Amino acid sequence: MDIILLGTGGPKPDPDRQGPSLAVRFDDTFLLFDAGRGVTTQLVRAGISLRDVNPVFITHHHFDHIGGLGDFILSAWNSGRQRTLSIFGPQDTEAIVGQLLKGVYKGDIAFRRKEAAISGVPLADIGQIVKPKDVTPGLVFAERRIRVFCEFVQHGHGLGISLKDWQCLAYRIEAEGKSVTISGDAVDCSGLDALARNTDALVICCYLSKIEMLEKEGELIGRHILACSPQVGKIAARAKAGKLILTHIREKPDSLMAEVVAEIRADYDGDIIAGKDLMQIRV
Ligand SMILES: [Zn+2]
Repeated sequence: MDIILLGTGGPKPDPDRQGPSLAVRFDDTFLLFDAGRGVTTQLVRAGISLRDVNPVFITHHHFDHIGGLGDFILSAWNSGRQRTLSIFGPQDTEAIVGQLLKGVYKGDIAFRRKEAAISGVPLADIGQIVKPKDVTPGLVFAERRIRVFCEFVQHGHGLGISLKDWQCLAYRIEAEGKSVTISGDAVDCSGLDALARNTDALVICCYLSKIEMLEKEGELIGRHILACSPQVGKIAARAKAGKLILTHIREKPDSLMAEVVAEIRADYDGDIIAGKDLMQIRV
């Protein structure tokens, strides 16, 4: 398998990092995880055809993780895609995709189909090819030699937000005896532990360094919202992860990013890769 980091940033626009998104390639299958800001352009930059991506897995519905979803769906369709595009995600994923196709872009979809029919290159019925599905923990995808599992993770629930109202998922991909685990946005929690056990590669959010957590907001984020350098190495060590790939990184100078890696190194002795956009990692 190969991991292709498409966007390694977070909610704050960063000129060096697009919104959270990555692809996992196995043979000729490209699975997409989250569709943050800039995802479509990043796929093109990585040389991945929009027609080849399937399925899409959404971890949760924060805008930085789905801000590029509508752009990706419509761009794939408008480039002549005929094959099914499955989109898996937590509850309300079907409703969100429905709102994009039947609400936000309803007029645009009708416009382009009319234009395509007149030009003699008809477009597919987008409602027939785009298949969103709300999923719950367990096996969510099995095709050829690929299996994808998910679990609920804690991401803001410590602030008093219930799992009923706000579901967040981590995913684990298994193929040919190898595994990749993607934390999505999460703090240290049992769901992530269960999924990441003995994984070959753990892609994990790592938003802040210790010094950034000294601010009140940073402390709150590190405790309840996103794993940061004091937690990440402990999670990876417990999981016995083969390698650790950091993503969802708040903009910071290279010197501070080096501190993040050093802080994680105190807890974890495997490979630590500080993720950058368009980096490719073989698993
Ligand atoms: Zn989030």
